[in-house]
Amino acid sequence: MKIAVIGGGASGLMAAIAAARNGAQVTVYEKMNRVGKKILATGNGRGNYTNMNLSKACYHSNDLHLTDEVMNFFDLEKTLSFFEDLGIFPYVDENGRVYPNSLQASSLLDVLRYELKRLKVDEVTDFNVTALRKNKGIFSIIGNDTVTADRVILATGGKASPQFGSDGKGYEIAKSFGHDIVEPFPALVQLKLSGKYFKRLAGIKFDGLVKAYAGDRLIRKEEGEILFTDYGISGPPILQISRKVIEELNKENKPFISLDVFPALSKIELYEILQDRFIKLGHKTLEDSMVGFINKKLIPVVLYEAGFDDLDRSCGKLNKKEIYKIIDILKEWKFEVTGHNSWQQAQSTAGGVRLTEVNPKTLESLKVKGLYFAGEILDVDGDCGGFNLQWAWSSGYTAGYFCSLK
Ligand SMILES: Cc1cc2nc3c(=O)[nH]c(=O)nc-3n(C[C@H](O)[C@H](O)[C@H](O)COP(=O)(O)OP(=O)(O)OC[C@H]3O[C@@H](n4cnc5c(N)ncnc54)[C@H](O)[C@@H]3O)c2cc1C
Repeated sequence: MKIAVIGGGASGLMAAIAAARNGAQVTVYEKMNRVGKKILATGNGRGNYTNMNLSKACYHSNDLHLTDEVMNFFDLEKTLSFFEDLGIFPYVDENGRVYPNSLQASSLLDVLRYELKRLKVDEVTDFNVTALRKNKGIFSIIGNDTVTADRVILATGGKASPQFGSDGKGYEIAKSFGHDIVEPFPALVQLKLSGKYFKRLAGIKFDGLVKAYAGDRLIRKEEGEILFTDYGISGPPILQISRKVIEELNKENKPFISLDVFPALSKIELYEILQDRFIKLGHKTLEDSMVGFINKKLIPVVLYEAGFDDLDRSCGKLNKKEIYKIIDILKEWKFEVTGHNSWQQAQSTAGGVRLTEVNPKTLESLKVKGLYFAGEILDVDGDCGGFNLQWAWSSGYTAGYFCSLK
C-alpha cells in the first residue's frame, strides 16, 4: 500500500515510521529544504519532547474528550520507550519536562531520520503540496509535480511559526474535502498590554505570579520568570496563560492580567518588611529607599503607578495607607491585555480541523475514506512543557498505524 505523508514535521515523521513498520510503502512530502525544522527549534534547541506530568488538563480543544483514545493508544510510556528504542536517553527536569540527555533537539530529529532510512521511507523535500484530490479511490498529491497514493496523512501543522514551514495550507486542503476548521488563533505567544512605561521596563526579569482575568473570572494563573518587553510581557508563565487570554480577547471579554512581584510574601508580610525598611532608611528619599529591594528600573514606575509624584520625599514619613498603595502595585499590578504577538512568534496553534469530523480512534476523516490527520492541524493544542510534541507523537503514531492497516 502506498501512503503519502504530507508534511515532514514531528507528527508526519512519526506517522511515516508507524506506517512503514506496518509494511506500507511510505513517502514524506515536505515543502522545506529539509524535514523537521521546527523540531530543531523546540525547547530552546533542547527538544522538550514530552512531560512526565502528562494529563488531559494540559490540553485544549473544542472537543477535548475526542482525544482520549489517541492519547491512550500512544501514551507517555509508549513515547518514552519508542524514543529509548531509537537511542534517546531521557533527561527529566524538576518540572517533569523530558529532553534527550544530550539536551539537543537535533538528537530527536537524527534518530527519527535514522529510523526512516532503516524503514526505507522516501523523503521528498522542496515539495510544496498545493492541492489534494481523490478520484476512483486514488489520491493525487499536487505540488511541484503530481504524485499518487492509496492513502494520505495530512500533517502540515497549524499556522504557528510559519518560518519553519507551517503556514495554514493544510486547512485549505482539509476544507477542499468539506472539513470544518475551528478558527485558528495563536497560542503560546507573548502578550501586548496597555501602559505607558513599557519602553522603560523592557528587559526587566523577575520571578513572579501572573493571574489572568476576564471580568471578575480568574481564567488562569502561572508562576515563573516573567519578562517585561517594549510591547508588554513575555516569559514562560505568560506563554502558558496566553491561550486562555487570547480566547477571551477574541470574545471581546476585555481580559486583564494581575502581576504579583512578590508571590512568596503575603501583603501583611510585605507591609512589615517595608515599614521596617522605611523606618531604618528614613533619611533617604522614597526612590532611593527602594534600591536593593526591587529592580532599579522598576522603582519609579511602581511608585508612579502607586500614585506618588514626589519621589524625593522622605520615606520615613510614609503612613500605613501610603505603604499599602505600593504593596497593591507589587502584589496586584493590573494591565489590560490589548493584543498578542504574531503567528511568527507563536509556538502553537489553537483551533484547526474539527475533531467531530475525524474518527477519534484512527484519525481518519469521516468525510473522505483514506485521508488521515496528525498533529497540530487538528483542533488540539497543549500547554508549554512538552505537551504539543506529545500530541504530535501520539496522533502521528495513531494515524500512521491505522492508515497502514489493510
Ligand atoms: C520555537 C518553538 C518551540 C517549541 N518548543 C516546543 C517544546 O519544547 N515542546 C513541545 O512539546 N512543543 C514545542 N513546540 C510546538 C511543537 O513544535 C509543535 O506543536 C509540533 O512540532 C507540531 O508538529 P506537526 O508535525 O503537527 O507540525 P509542524 O512541526 O509544524 O510540521 C508541519 C510540517 O509540514 C510542512 N508543510 C506545511 N505545509 C506543507 C505543504 N503544503 N506541503 C508540504 N509540506 C508542508 C511544514 O514545512 C512542516 O515541516 C514549539 C514550537 C515552536 C515554534
